[in-house]
Amino acid sequence: MKLSKEAVQTAAKEFLQFVNKGPSPYHVVEECKRRLLAAGFIELKESEQWDIKPASKYFLSRNFSSLIAFAVGGLYLPGNGFSMIGAHTDSPCLRVKTRSKKTKNGCLQVGVECYGGGIWNTWFDRDLTVAGRVMVKSGDKLVSRLVHVSKPLLRIPHLAIHLQRDINDSFGPNKENHLVPIIATAVQEELETGSASSGDASSAVTTAEKHHPVLVKVLCSELGVQPDALLDFELCLADTQPGALGGVYEEFIYSPRLDNLHSCYCALQGLMQSCSVDSLSKETNIRMITLYDNEEVGSESAQGAQSNLTELVLSRLASSPSNLTAFQQAAPLSFMISADMAHAVHPNYPEKHEENHRPAFHKGPVIKFNSNQRYASTAVTASVIREIASCVDVPLQDVMVRNDSPCGTTIGPILAARLGIPVVDIGGPQLSMHSIREMCCTSSVLQSIVLFEGFFQHFPRVRSKLVVD
Ligand code: ZN
Repeated sequence: MKLSKEAVQTAAKEFLQFVNKGPSPYHVVEECKRRLLAAGFIELKESEQWDIKPASKYFLSRNFSSLIAFAVGGLYLPGNGFSMIGAHTDSPCLRVKTRSKKTKNGCLQVGVECYGGGIWNTWFDRDLTVAGRVMVKSGDKLVSRLVHVSKPLLRIPHLAIHLQRDINDSFGPNKENHLVPIIATAVQEELETGSASSGDASSAVTTAEKHHPVLVKVLCSELGVQPDALLDFELCLADTQPGALGGVYEEFIYSPRLDNLHSCYCALQGLMQSCSVDSLSKETNIRMITLYDNEEVGSESAQGAQSNLTELVLSRLASSPSNLTAFQQAAPLSFMISADMAHAVHPNYPEKHEENHRPAFHKGPVIKFNSNQRYASTAVTASVIREIASCVDVPLQDVMVRNDSPCGTTIGPILAARLGIPVVDIGGPQLSMHSIREMCCTSSVLQSIVLFEGFFQHFPRVRSKLVVD
């Protein structure tokens, strides 16, 4: 099957709608939930008993920032395998500090914290807004609400080149002093409100006092609450410029958060598309996607890939009064695709890639290898995915870093170690990883969806042909 240009462009445009709705991990989970409910998945709570039925579809979330969705095969029995795709919902960004109020030289500013390993100089001179989760008091309840302000509120201006002639030699900001966005001037605030906010938040007591009133006002008007109802929040800064197709042939995607909403979206689509009634009724495994928060900061949190979330869910699904070792039996029969973006070769820096391992745009998802276990792929797991890719006619590429180069890592090795499940690390090729605005090719969206859908449909059959023990 050759993917038509029309189908490629349609898939890329649909992905853009998803990425534009995901300015924070909370919004990513919200959008996934909305799509899963529309596709007939049933929401479960960790705190409740589950009544799981064959040929049915479910999902649950933790912390509203990690999500697991699964479809139970019509022929599933406890002890059978889990066909899994994992990805992450978070991206490097600036986040509003707990006490953010700062005033300098007549400018009202918002203190921010660096989350993850962003290329922070790309956050200068962008039209920024805030998006995230706010806890509000509603009567006697403490309620989590989402907020995404649609207009540009904040900006981190560059210092003019006339005042720093060496700026183009190496531009790395001081992360505390130079990354503080401006939200207003004191002069304008005085005109608008009769008095200007000033000072900092060192002696603030209430949540409203910890931030400039103008920021509090924007949040409260978005949420329809009074300032004294604000309990606390986790707010990401985000670029207001939506993702777009680009290049003279519209063959590129220019967008924030490709790492790793590209993988989240393709995993979600792959799972939903694989669940046509006929395909699921003959399925022997449980098909699952696991989307985790906090990958960019090491995955060690209650909702991260290092948490007990996956193990608790898998053991719950495999539990059986008639087979007490069903969970242990399931692990070697299971498989996880750890889906995270890969570095395409950069035409201006080709020497950064080893000469035999230079992934390119349009040539397919990239299998990542590293014997030092920064990636979890093995000869066995790569063979399984190559077999599946050939069934669905999706090309694959290979990458290893140079011996003199640093190497990224993923949730793959963490989950392989925690669960004892075979894992392959795969991702679409992209440039500008961890910039505020990244770049990939349109074809990688449809290629990944087709591969992931094919994985869910073909894995049990391919696994049954595997002779490794
Ligand atoms: Zn990533």
